[in-house]
Amino acid sequence: MDLDLSADEETLRAEARAWLAEHVPAAPLPSLETEEGFAAHREWEARLHADRWSVVSWPRQYGGRGAGIFGWLVFEEEYYAAGAPGRVSQNGIHLLAPTLFDHATEEQRARVLPAMASGEVIWAQAWSEPESGSDLASLKSRAVRTAGGWLLSGQKTWSSRAPFADRAFGIFRTDPDAPKAHQGLTYLMFDLSAPGVTVRPIGRLDGKPAFAELFLDQVFVPDEDVIGEPGQGWRIAMSTTGNERGLTLRSPGRFLAAADRLVRQWRTGADPSDTALRDRVADAVIGARAYQLFTYANASRFAAGASIGAESSLNKVFWSEYDIALHETALDLLGAEGELTDGEWAQGYVFSLAGPLYAGTNEIQRDIVAERLLGLPKGRR
Ligand SMILES: Cc1cc2nc3c(=O)[nH]c(=O)nc-3n(C[C@H](O)[C@H](O)[C@H](O)COP(=O)(O)OP(=O)(O)OC[C@H]3O[C@@H](n4cnc5c(N)ncnc54)[C@H](O)[C@@H]3O)c2cc1C
Repeated sequence: MDLDLSADEETLRAEARAWLAEHVPAAPLPSLETEEGFAAHREWEARLHADRWSVVSWPRQYGGRGAGIFGWLVFEEEYYAAGAPGRVSQNGIHLLAPTLFDHATEEQRARVLPAMASGEVIWAQAWSEPESGSDLASLKSRAVRTAGGWLLSGQKTWSSRAPFADRAFGIFRTDPDAPKAHQGLTYLMFDLSAPGVTVRPIGRLDGKPAFAELFLDQVFVPDEDVIGEPGQGWRIAMSTTGNERGLTLRSPGRFLAAADRLVRQWRTGADPSDTALRDRVADAVIGARAYQLFTYANASRFAAGASIGAESSLNKVFWSEYDIALHETALDLLGAEGELTDGEWAQGYVFSLAGPLYAGTNEIQRDIVAERLLGLPKGRR
């Protein structure tokens, strides 16, 4: 494998670094899980978009730079190193957009992608239901045929960003008589402000409304908002999860920057005789580099036309467990100061604890690795 970046990617890195140095807000924006913070992050998305930094890998016609997957990885390294704000449009850009590129009509792409890239429309993912998390195919929310579209009914939950987002994408049961649970599902998009939608915020550990439950009562969705063929929702959804776990949800840039921050913390605040802690800091740096190289290897295969399959589960288990270990090391390094709940590391630690759950729990990911990558027999369910 050639580990050198192309001249174009190096140019992109230099341009991104210069742009970020000039534009990243000096003071952190308010939390994006508040109304005020959400609005501030939406404005930041518009700022990024105005200079074509919001979706660098996308084709130019939709607001990108056509920089491909490596351009995106390079941009993300610079983005996190610069301490730039969290991306409020993440669900749309990393989950819905790859699905649209693979399965939508040209009309849908032209209608949805530019407004997503600019932050004008912020998306929420409406997959999970109260009784359907790991066993997602057991979902019960229905979409029933009506003139010119579908009527949605049911309940979704744990929908991140939904308290303030504009639209959502999800899978719905359209054929309750299909012989298997993952058949007869349809993938579609809907407005969170449409008649019949009730959005009830759910507080996170810190009390901020980071998620919502969605109650849907005969919500009309026009045919133009169905992605792919009705009944094919499961197949389409599975291509989304590969992207989420495997490549795009957690780029190495985030962890490289966090490991750098940890090293700085060690240099300025640690007891040099504590070699056990020093070794954990070194492990964090090695882990970030290992994840970077593994991701570059996956990206090379992706760029050569392969799809990311069960390897995405390996990535997901790795980054989620790595993230917790890194934050625990930082808190141990800070000592009593780490107990202050408004500190950056303390907040990051609390969020890292959710990593083994979202994007598919690690128990399920380990089953996928065991069965599909290692060829071990199926466990008892
Ligand atoms: C921070 C965060 C953000 C989220 N954002 C979204 C979002 O935006 N949109 C959305 O739709 N959902 C979202 N979710 C929901 C998430 O996808 C689910 O929590 C996850 O899929 C697990 O489902 P569950 O909560 O129903 O747990 P369950 O499926 O009930 O699992 C409970 C426990 O049992 C284990 N388990 C279950 N089945 C098996 C099995 N067959 N073998 C071994 N172990 C098993 C699980 O691994 C887990 O440890 C989010 C969750 C979190 C924590």
